[in-house]
Amino acid sequence: MPADSVVGIALLHPELLGTYGDGGNALVLAQRLRWRGVEAEVLPVHAGEPVPSSCELYVLGGGEDAPQALAAAELGDGALARAVDRGAVVFAVCAGFQILGHEFLIAEGPRPGLGLLDCTTVRRAPRRAVGELVVEPDARLGLTTLTGYENHAGLTELGPDVRPLGRVMAGAGNAGDGREGAVVGRVVGTYLHGPALARNPALADLLLSWVMGRELAPVDDGDVERLRHERLAAALGRRARLRGWRRRVAIPVTR
Ligand code: GLN
Repeated sequence: MPADSVVGIALLHPELLGTYGDGGNALVLAQRLRWRGVEAEVLPVHAGEPVPSSCELYVLGGGEDAPQALAAAELGDGALARAVDRGAVVFAVCAGFQILGHEFLIAEGPRPGLGLLDCTTVRRAPRRAVGELVVEPDARLGLTTLTGYENHAGLTELGPDVRPLGRVMAGAGNAGDGREGAVVGRVVGTYLHGPALARNPALADLLLSWVMGRELAPVDDGDVERLRHERLAAALGRRARLRGWRRRVAIPVTR
């Protein structure tokens, strides 16, 4: 990535996939680049508008079933697949994650996805999975524990061509099978709302390092660390004491 170029971050269909505030992920990515002296621009792409072909990052959020189906139908024109082919990074949350799979199931029945991730959302949970979600990330990603919240009925099963983002420590994740999210190449899907990249700046920096082709200089994330500790303690407190997670996720012990 040339030093003086502007990094384009496409925020896809925020009016359809914006129920859970995941648009914040695009803002986090842009701001963390600016803190490193890299120019960045967030481009909201509304339903009915063409998906720009030249962005470095594409971000999709969560939404309710009907808007999710509308977004999937519009995004099926191949533009996102072409962006992935030329090396763009895609970060998709919940409905966005389901849309990237082969197929997803809404209350009215199955809908085709984009097939960018080898996964399928073919079952619905008897009760929506709602609450804090804590994930021990795949060690190859070099990340610390991931925190967020989930709110979904769809259950997502992974195929052999993706690996999970991580292992569920608290919450339901993909399908109650201990797996959370999916990663292949530079495409990441997850059930973590929060926004996920606000709660997990290391994940934001990982995506940005893929774009920049280098590690990014550290920034002061002290305030975020305090929020992370509070959320991790809330979700893992009892289990943390039982299993010694406190030390592993560095939750300050208060007496
Ligand atoms: N509508 C989907 C489901 O309920 C996605 C929900 C979401 O994005 N939070 O499974």
